[in-house]
Amino acid sequence: MYLLRYSLGKAVIFGARFMQQGRKHALVLMRNSAVCPASVWNGYRFTIGKTSRRAVLQGLGALALLLAGPARAAQDSLAFRQVAPGTYVHVGHVAVPDAHLGGDTSNIGFVVGSRSVAVIDSGGAPRMGRMIVEAVRAVTDKPIAYLILTHMHPDHSAGAQSLREAGAQIVAHGRYDAAIAARSTFYAELETRRQGGAPSDFVFFAADIAVSDTLTLDLGGRRLLLKAWPTAHTDNDLTVLDEAASLLLAGDLLFSRHVPTLDGSLRGWLALLPELARIPARQVVPGHGPAPLPWPDALADERRYLERLAADIRAAIAAGRGLSTVQDTAAESERGRWELFDHYRGQNATAAYTELEWE
Ligand SMILES: [Zn+2]
Repeated sequence: MYLLRYSLGKAVIFGARFMQQGRKHALVLMRNSAVCPASVWNGYRFTIGKTSRRAVLQGLGALALLLAGPARAAQDSLAFRQVAPGTYVHVGHVAVPDAHLGGDTSNIGFVVGSRSVAVIDSGGAPRMGRMIVEAVRAVTDKPIAYLILTHMHPDHSAGAQSLREAGAQIVAHGRYDAAIAARSTFYAELETRRQGGAPSDFVFFAADIAVSDTLTLDLGGRRLLLKAWPTAHTDNDLTVLDEAASLLLAGDLLFSRHVPTLDGSLRGWLALLPELARIPARQVVPGHGPAPLPWPDALADERRYLERLAADIRAAIAAGRGLSTVQDTAAESERGRWELFDHYRGQNATAAYTELEWE
């Protein structure tokens, strides 16, 4: 029961029922009011409805069978869409990582050249790396030469192990190693709390290739132009331009639908937006949210949000209001425009306030 409660966050579970239809299995979780949308956890569908005590017991028994059974692994796979010849994108859930999302909360890409493959970001759990390798193998036998990590956040970097074992060299910003070294223990504990498992399941690696400014990777007739940016979303943001596809993989320098999260410098982020917008691409894959999107038009929402956050925090500081007053009020006019707004508002306001109060 603990697992069920945990996996659905605040939802209180009143029952569960196991359902089978052909080769498809479903565990249907029930509560007295239907609030939670259907979602998929490890290939099994969860829906919310009404039930009885008997169904609870049946459902829990079924869950135990599912967790023990080999069918679970067999149904794990990630959907990638070919968005340009040789370029594939997986769009992760716009959600805070938890047990039932299994690390699938950020966007992932891979690009196939005539000699080799590069993967951009690894998802937020070891199983994501395994599924990325499988997805690449479904398309090509060429070696996975590179795993490019757009920054150190665990929802992008915690799936690295399988890709490394498949032979990929890890490519990251020159400041990535220091950032991940300082946080890897914290991230492993954080992801264990959010997703379950043990801290030792979440392994973070140093980069094999560090990018201090720009770097071009040639996959064989296919060039990726990497750029390391000054501190913005984090202090180690890296973007990837897939030249032939005219596609920018922006990592978390671009958010769409998912409210932007600030773990670097608000002033730095706002300052680099004009240069970011000049990158010659027709389309962009944000770190979170639907993809691909038209470029640079897709920047407009994020720019407006960051400018509003900065303006509200500066006004509060000028009026002598303390940090605690802005944590529940900052960027209020943006509230209806983003998902997860309330979840990240306090964190963004705190980061912005502590930066801007020294101006
Ligand atoms: Zn991030």
